[in-house]
Amino acid sequence: MGGYELEEERILSWLKSRRATRVLIQAPDGIKPYLRDLCEVLAAAGIEAIVSGSHAWGGCDVAVREAVLVGADAVVHIGHHGPVRFRPPGNLLFIEGRAGVSIHGVVEIAAEKLVEKGVENVALLTTIQHLHELRHAKSLLSEHGINVFLARSSKPYMREGLITGCDVEAAKALESKVEAFLVVSGGVFHALGVGLITRKTVFAADPYTNRVLDIERNVRRVIAVRLNHLADALDAREALIVASTKPGQFSATRIRRVKAFLSSRGINCKVAVFGDLDRGVLEDLGSFDVYVNAACPRLAVDDYHIFPGPVINPGELRYLDEGLENYDPASALQW
Ligand code: SF4
Repeated sequence: MGGYELEEERILSWLKSRRATRVLIQAPDGIKPYLRDLCEVLAAAGIEAIVSGSHAWGGCDVAVREAVLVGADAVVHIGHHGPVRFRPPGNLLFIEGRAGVSIHGVVEIAAEKLVEKGVENVALLTTIQHLHELRHAKSLLSEHGINVFLARSSKPYMREGLITGCDVEAAKALESKVEAFLVVSGGVFHALGVGLITRKTVFAADPYTNRVLDIERNVRRVIAVRLNHLADALDAREALIVASTKPGQFSATRIRRVKAFLSSRGINCKVAVFGDLDRGVLEDLGSFDVYVNAACPRLAVDDYHIFPGPVINPGELRYLDEGLENYDPASALQW
Protein backbone atom coordinates (compact mmCIF):
# COMPACT_ATOMS: atom_id res chain seq x y z
CA MET A 1 0.00 0.00 0.00
CA GLY A 2 1.30 3.49 -0.82
CA GLY A 3 -0.08 6.95 -0.32
CA TYR A 4 -0.99 8.57 2.96
CA GLU A 5 -3.78 8.17 5.47
CA LEU A 6 -5.63 11.49 5.37
CA GLU A 7 -8.31 10.64 7.96
CA GLU A 8 -11.11 12.07 5.84
CA GLU A 9 -13.86 11.10 8.31
CA ARG A 10 -12.05 12.77 11.20
CA ILE A 11 -11.51 15.94 9.19
CA LEU A 12 -15.13 15.98 8.09
CA SER A 13 -16.55 15.54 11.56
CA TRP A 14 -14.18 18.19 13.01
CA LEU A 15 -15.23 20.67 10.31
CA LYS A 16 -18.91 19.87 10.86
CA SER A 17 -18.51 20.37 14.62
CA ARG A 18 -17.16 23.84 13.85
CA ARG A 19 -19.90 24.50 11.26
CA ALA A 20 -17.12 25.38 8.82
CA THR A 21 -18.14 26.18 5.27
CA ARG A 22 -14.72 26.91 3.80
CA VAL A 23 -11.44 25.24 4.78
CA LEU A 24 -7.83 25.80 3.76
CA ILE A 25 -6.03 22.47 3.27
CA GLN A 26 -2.26 22.56 3.60
CA ALA A 27 0.21 19.73 3.00
CA PRO A 28 3.88 19.21 2.10
CA ASP A 29 4.59 18.88 -1.63
CA GLY A 30 4.91 15.06 -1.39
CA ILE A 31 1.36 14.74 -0.01
CA LYS A 32 -0.30 17.34 -2.27
CA PRO A 33 -1.00 14.81 -5.09
CA TYR A 34 -3.23 12.83 -2.67
CA LEU A 35 -5.55 15.68 -1.69
CA ARG A 36 -8.12 15.41 -4.51
CA ASP A 37 -10.29 12.72 -2.90
CA LEU A 38 -10.34 14.63 0.38
CA CYS A 39 -11.49 17.79 -1.41
CA GLU A 40 -14.26 15.83 -3.13
CA VAL A 41 -15.45 14.29 0.15
CA LEU A 42 -15.61 17.76 1.69
CA ALA A 43 -17.36 19.25 -1.35
CA ALA A 44 -19.99 16.48 -1.17
CA ALA A 45 -20.64 17.56 2.42
CA GLY A 46 -21.08 21.19 1.34
CA ILE A 47 -17.67 22.38 2.56
CA GLU A 48 -15.54 24.34 0.14
CA ALA A 49 -11.94 23.12 0.26
CA ILE A 50 -9.18 25.44 -0.90
CA VAL A 51 -5.75 23.85 -1.26
CA SER A 52 -2.77 25.96 -0.31
CA GLY A 53 -0.28 25.89 -3.17
CA SER A 54 2.47 27.15 -0.87
CA HIS A 55 5.13 24.84 0.48
CA ALA A 56 4.52 23.41 3.94
CA TRP A 57 7.95 22.63 5.34
CA GLY A 58 7.07 21.85 8.93
CA GLY A 59 4.77 22.40 11.89
CA CYS A 60 6.34 25.88 12.03
CA ASP A 61 4.89 26.68 8.62
CA VAL A 62 1.12 26.87 9.00
CA ALA A 63 -0.72 29.08 6.52
CA VAL A 64 -2.74 30.99 9.09
CA ARG A 65 -2.47 34.29 7.21
CA GLU A 66 -3.39 32.64 3.89
CA ALA A 67 -6.49 31.21 5.59
CA VAL A 68 -7.59 34.69 6.68
CA LEU A 69 -6.97 36.02 3.19
CA VAL A 70 -9.18 33.41 1.50
CA GLY A 71 -11.85 33.71 4.18
CA ALA A 72 -11.47 30.13 5.45
CA ASP A 73 -13.18 29.25 8.75
CA ALA A 74 -10.61 26.56 9.47
CA VAL A 75 -7.18 25.22 8.49
CA VAL A 76 -6.32 21.54 8.11
CA HIS A 77 -2.56 21.05 8.08
CA ILE A 78 -1.52 17.58 6.93
CA GLY A 79 1.87 15.91 7.28
CA HIS A 80 3.32 17.30 10.51
CA HIS A 81 2.88 16.37 14.15
CA GLY A 82 1.71 19.71 15.55
CA PRO A 83 2.61 23.37 15.95
CA VAL A 84 6.29 24.21 16.29
CA ARG A 85 7.25 27.33 18.27
CA PHE A 86 3.90 29.13 17.95
CA ARG A 87 0.58 29.05 19.73
CA PRO A 88 -1.94 27.34 17.43
CA PRO A 89 -5.27 29.08 16.80
CA GLY A 90 -8.40 27.12 17.75
CA ASN A 91 -9.45 26.67 14.11
CA LEU A 92 -6.38 24.58 13.19
CA LEU A 93 -6.35 20.78 12.91
CA PHE A 94 -3.16 18.76 12.39
CA ILE A 95 -3.42 15.45 10.54
CA GLU A 96 -0.33 13.24 10.69
CA GLY A 97 -0.47 11.95 7.12
CA ARG A 98 0.62 8.41 8.05
CA ALA A 99 2.50 6.78 5.21
CA GLY A 100 0.94 3.66 3.67
CA VAL A 101 4.38 2.17 2.96
CA SER A 102 5.43 -0.57 5.41
CA ILE A 103 8.67 -0.18 7.36
CA HIS A 104 8.93 -3.95 7.94
CA GLY A 105 11.36 -4.73 5.11
CA VAL A 106 13.78 -1.88 5.75
CA VAL A 107 13.87 -2.51 9.51
CA GLU A 108 14.72 -6.18 8.84
CA ILE A 109 17.59 -5.04 6.60
CA ALA A 110 18.69 -2.54 9.27
CA ALA A 111 18.59 -5.21 11.99
CA GLU A 112 20.89 -7.47 9.98
CA LYS A 113 23.27 -4.57 9.39
CA LEU A 114 23.31 -3.63 13.08
CA VAL A 115 24.02 -7.23 14.12
CA GLU A 116 26.78 -7.46 11.50
CA LYS A 117 28.37 -4.27 12.94
CA GLY A 118 28.18 -5.66 16.48
CA VAL A 119 25.66 -3.02 17.65
CA GLU A 120 23.88 -4.28 20.78
CA ASN A 121 22.10 -1.09 21.83
CA VAL A 122 20.35 1.18 19.36
CA ALA A 123 18.22 4.31 19.66
CA LEU A 124 15.20 4.16 17.37
CA LEU A 125 13.80 7.37 15.90
CA THR A 126 11.35 8.22 13.19
CA THR A 127 9.18 10.92 11.64
CA ILE A 128 5.47 11.48 12.07
CA GLN A 129 4.72 9.57 8.81
CA HIS A 130 6.00 6.30 10.33
CA LEU A 131 5.49 6.85 14.07
CA HIS A 132 2.48 4.51 14.13
CA GLU A 133 4.92 1.69 13.24
CA LEU A 134 7.45 2.49 15.98
CA ARG A 135 6.41 -0.40 18.26
CA HIS A 136 6.49 -2.81 15.34
CA ALA A 137 10.00 -1.66 14.42
CA LYS A 138 11.10 -2.02 18.03
CA SER A 139 9.89 -5.62 18.28
CA LEU A 140 11.50 -6.53 14.94
CA LEU A 141 14.86 -5.24 16.20
CA SER A 142 14.39 -7.00 19.55
CA GLU A 143 13.82 -10.29 17.73
CA HIS A 144 17.39 -9.89 16.43
CA GLY A 145 18.69 -9.55 20.00
CA ILE A 146 19.16 -5.76 19.78
CA ASN A 147 18.27 -3.60 22.79
CA VAL A 148 16.11 -0.74 21.57
CA PHE A 149 15.96 2.61 23.37
CA LEU A 150 13.26 5.24 22.92
CA ALA A 151 13.06 8.80 24.20
CA ARG A 152 11.03 11.93 23.60
CA SER A 153 11.76 15.59 23.16
CA SER A 154 10.62 17.91 25.94
CA LYS A 155 8.97 20.23 23.40
CA PRO A 156 5.16 20.45 23.28
CA TYR A 157 3.32 18.03 20.95
CA MET A 158 6.40 15.80 20.49
CA ARG A 159 5.96 12.08 21.14
CA GLU A 160 8.18 9.15 22.00
CA GLY A 161 10.57 8.29 19.19
CA LEU A 162 9.62 11.35 17.14
CA ILE A 163 12.13 13.75 15.60
CA THR A 164 11.76 16.67 13.20
CA GLY A 165 14.32 18.49 11.08
CA CYS A 166 15.22 20.81 13.96
CA ASP A 167 14.14 18.83 17.04
CA VAL A 168 16.46 15.91 17.67
CA GLU A 169 16.35 16.19 21.46
CA ALA A 170 15.14 12.58 21.71
CA ALA A 171 18.42 11.44 20.13
CA LYS A 172 20.58 13.57 22.43
CA ALA A 173 18.88 12.03 25.47
CA LEU A 174 20.01 8.53 24.43
CA GLU A 175 23.55 9.25 23.29
CA SER A 176 25.26 7.72 26.33
CA LYS A 177 23.14 4.55 26.24
CA VAL A 178 23.64 3.33 22.68
CA GLU A 179 26.33 2.53 20.12
CA ALA A 180 24.22 3.64 17.17
CA PHE A 181 21.06 5.43 16.05
CA LEU A 182 18.54 4.09 13.60
CA VAL A 183 16.37 6.70 11.90
CA VAL A 184 13.44 5.36 9.87
CA SER A 185 12.36 7.98 7.33
CA GLY A 186 12.46 8.86 3.65
CA GLY A 187 15.90 10.13 2.53
CA VAL A 188 18.64 11.23 4.90
CA PHE A 189 17.32 14.66 5.97
CA HIS A 190 16.15 13.57 9.43
CA ALA A 191 19.08 11.21 10.04
CA LEU A 192 21.44 14.07 9.20
CA GLY A 193 19.98 16.15 12.04
CA VAL A 194 20.74 13.28 14.43
CA GLY A 195 24.24 12.96 12.95
CA LEU A 196 24.96 16.62 13.71
CA ILE A 197 24.20 16.38 17.41
CA THR A 198 25.86 13.04 18.19
CA ARG A 199 29.27 11.50 17.67
CA LYS A 200 27.76 8.02 17.31
CA THR A 201 27.04 6.04 14.13
CA VAL A 202 23.72 6.96 12.52
CA PHE A 203 21.91 4.70 10.07
CA ALA A 204 19.17 6.10 7.83
CA ALA A 205 16.59 3.42 6.97
CA ASP A 206 14.45 4.54 4.04
CA PRO A 207 11.19 2.53 3.75
CA TYR A 208 10.51 3.97 0.26
CA THR A 209 13.74 2.56 -1.23
CA ASN A 210 14.47 -0.22 1.32
CA ARG A 211 18.00 1.15 1.67
CA VAL A 212 19.93 1.45 4.92
CA LEU A 213 22.78 3.93 4.86
CA ASP A 214 25.52 4.83 7.34
CA ILE A 215 25.42 8.63 6.97
CA GLU A 216 28.90 9.39 8.34
CA ARG A 217 30.10 10.84 5.01
CA ASN A 218 27.02 13.05 4.72
CA VAL A 219 27.66 14.42 8.21
CA ARG A 220 31.33 15.06 7.49
CA ARG A 221 30.41 16.89 4.29
CA VAL A 222 27.99 19.16 6.19
CA ILE A 223 30.59 19.92 8.87
CA ALA A 224 33.15 20.80 6.18
CA VAL A 225 30.68 23.21 4.56
CA ARG A 226 29.76 24.77 7.90
CA LEU A 227 33.45 25.35 8.76
CA ASN A 228 34.05 26.79 5.31
CA HIS A 229 31.21 29.28 5.66
CA LEU A 230 32.26 30.24 9.19
CA ALA A 231 35.85 30.78 8.07
CA ASP A 232 34.65 33.06 5.26
CA ALA A 233 32.49 34.97 7.78
CA LEU A 234 35.32 35.73 10.20
CA ASP A 235 36.25 39.06 8.55
CA ALA A 236 32.71 40.10 7.59
CA ARG A 237 31.85 43.82 7.73
CA GLU A 238 28.36 43.75 6.14
CA ALA A 239 25.71 41.22 7.10
CA LEU A 240 22.16 40.46 6.07
CA ILE A 241 19.94 38.88 8.70
CA VAL A 242 17.45 36.63 6.91
CA ALA A 243 14.15 36.23 8.75
CA SER A 244 11.01 34.29 7.91
CA THR A 245 7.33 35.19 7.97
CA LYS A 246 6.40 31.60 8.89
CA PRO A 247 4.69 31.70 12.30
CA GLY A 248 7.04 29.23 14.02
CA GLN A 249 10.19 30.66 12.47
CA PHE A 250 9.86 34.40 13.06
CA SER A 251 11.28 35.62 16.34
CA ALA A 252 11.84 39.32 17.00
CA THR A 253 13.93 38.37 20.05
CA ARG A 254 16.26 36.24 17.96
CA ILE A 255 16.68 39.00 15.40
CA ARG A 256 17.45 41.52 18.17
CA ARG A 257 20.01 39.14 19.70
CA VAL A 258 21.72 38.57 16.35
CA LYS A 259 21.78 42.32 15.63
CA ALA A 260 23.30 43.06 19.04
CA PHE A 261 26.00 40.44 18.52
CA LEU A 262 26.89 41.69 15.05
CA SER A 263 26.94 45.32 16.18
CA SER A 264 29.23 44.43 19.09
CA ARG A 265 31.71 43.12 16.48
CA GLY A 266 31.38 46.30 14.39
CA ILE A 267 29.45 44.50 11.64
CA ASN A 268 26.81 46.57 9.82
CA CYS A 269 23.62 44.64 9.40
CA LYS A 270 20.32 44.85 7.59
CA VAL A 271 17.28 42.63 8.03
CA ALA A 272 15.15 41.11 5.27
CA VAL A 273 12.08 38.96 5.75
CA PHE A 274 10.89 36.23 3.40
CA GLY A 275 8.10 33.71 2.96
CA ASP A 276 10.08 31.13 1.03
CA LEU A 277 13.70 32.03 0.42
CA ASP A 278 14.76 32.79 -3.10
CA ARG A 279 18.35 33.27 -4.27
CA GLY A 280 17.32 35.76 -6.95
CA VAL A 281 15.63 38.01 -4.39
CA LEU A 282 18.63 37.71 -2.07
CA GLU A 283 20.89 38.77 -4.95
CA ASP A 284 18.62 41.73 -5.71
CA LEU A 285 19.22 42.98 -2.17
CA GLY A 286 22.89 43.59 -2.98
CA SER A 287 26.06 41.97 -1.82
CA PHE A 288 26.84 41.06 1.80
CA ASP A 289 29.91 39.46 3.39
CA VAL A 290 27.76 37.08 5.39
CA TYR A 291 24.12 36.01 5.72
CA VAL A 292 22.83 35.18 9.18
CA ASN A 293 19.94 32.80 8.84
CA ALA A 294 17.33 33.56 11.50
CA ALA A 295 14.75 31.34 9.73
CA CYS A 296 14.64 27.51 9.64
CA PRO A 297 18.13 26.36 10.72
CA ARG A 298 18.12 23.60 8.10
CA LEU A 299 18.33 26.22 5.34
CA ALA A 300 21.99 26.82 6.22
CA VAL A 301 22.65 23.09 6.56
CA ASP A 302 20.86 21.64 3.52
CA ASP A 303 20.07 24.61 1.26
CA TYR A 304 23.10 26.87 1.75
CA HIS A 305 23.38 27.26 -2.05
CA ILE A 306 20.30 29.54 -1.89
CA PHE A 307 22.47 32.16 -0.19
CA PRO A 308 24.75 34.18 -2.48
CA GLY A 309 27.53 34.16 0.16
CA PRO A 310 28.56 32.43 3.39
CA VAL A 311 25.63 31.72 5.68
CA ILE A 312 25.73 31.01 9.38
CA ASN A 313 23.06 30.22 11.92
CA PRO A 314 22.50 32.19 15.15
CA GLY A 315 23.83 29.25 17.21
CA GLU A 316 27.11 29.47 15.30
CA LEU A 317 27.74 33.20 15.81
CA ARG A 318 29.87 32.59 18.87
CA TYR A 319 32.57 31.00 16.72
CA LEU A 320 33.22 34.42 15.19
CA ASP A 321 34.60 35.29 18.66
CA GLU A 322 35.89 31.91 19.81
CA GLY A 323 37.48 30.66 16.58
CA LEU A 324 36.69 27.36 14.91
CA GLU A 325 38.93 24.91 16.82
CA ASN A 326 36.11 23.66 19.05
CA TYR A 327 33.28 23.83 16.50
CA ASP A 328 30.32 21.69 17.59
CA PRO A 329 27.99 20.86 14.68
CA ALA A 330 25.05 20.73 17.11
CA SER A 331 25.26 24.54 17.21
CA ALA A 332 24.00 24.60 13.60
CA LEU A 333 20.61 23.45 14.89
CA GLN A 334 20.41 25.78 17.89
CA TRP A 335 17.87 28.60 17.76
S1 SF4 B 1 12.09 25.16 11.46
FE1 SF4 B 1 12.67 23.95 9.66
S2 SF4 B 1 13.27 21.96 10.44
FE2 SF4 B 1 12.13 22.99 12.06
S3 SF4 B 1 10.02 22.31 11.82
FE3 SF4 B 1 10.24 24.20 10.64
S4 SF4 B 1 10.77 23.57 8.55
FE4 SF4 B 1 11.12 21.80 9.91
